[in-house]
Amino acid sequence: MSIADNIKSLKKETEADKVILLAVSKTKPVTDIQEAYDAGQRLFGENLVQEMIEKYDQLPKDIEWHLIGHLQTNKVKYIAPFVSMIQSVDSLKLLQEINKHAEKAGRVIDCLLQIYIADEETKYGLGFDEAIELLRSEEYATLKNIRIRGLMGIATNTDNEKQIKEEYYELNTFFEGIKLSYFRKEESFDILSMGMSSDYKLAIEQGSNMVRLGSTIFGGRVIKHWKNN
Ligand SMILES: *Cc1c(COP(=O)(O)O)cnc(C)c1O
Repeated sequence: MSIADNIKSLKKETEADKVILLAVSKTKPVTDIQEAYDAGQRLFGENLVQEMIEKYDQLPKDIEWHLIGHLQTNKVKYIAPFVSMIQSVDSLKLLQEINKHAEKAGRVIDCLLQIYIADEETKYGLGFDEAIELLRSEEYATLKNIRIRGLMGIATNTDNEKQIKEEYYELNTFFEGIKLSYFRKEESFDILSMGMSSDYKLAIEQGSNMVRLGSTIFGGRVIKHWKNN
């Protein structure tokens, strides 16, 4: 199937479940993104700042760009003027930096806290306790140019469906708890981003309302070990 066909069928599938489809276009050329765009897709995810900027420059300006990879504080300034959402917030320091550059750009930037749920040492993210600590901090309370829209998580890369289900179940439970405790008055805390190509159906069963799909849409990627994001 073509990229356009994949987008159309995945849109239909996710819309039926009221789930937002983020097309993860990392490593893929702008021509692929344009094909997905022409099929109606507007939300795209990238994990490298430099790559996102280059693609932003070349593609239609109504694309909503989501950063999904680890973000270094010294790179925030490059994407702050245009990024739609930063899904990979994993420290208060990063959130403060995003706030600073959002203010300079005269914007409020939507963010997700990335929560560590995988049984792997390589994944970035906040532990449950760390996320709570962040939300309770005085520093967080002063940030006016960021808006936390929800949580993002990456499950363990495994064939063990039971384990993946449990990890997503835990994140959903945590999401509901955080919403009640810290965002009772804000309806904008509404995004639970979980699920990739290999496990998005399980994630949706466990309450995900945003899936991040790359290879299912664009085909496989050459695996690279990014060191310079
Ligand atoms: C690459 C990536 C995805 C998409 O992965 P696929 O398996 O190709 O769907 C989703 N989320 C994050 C954080 C990623 O880095």
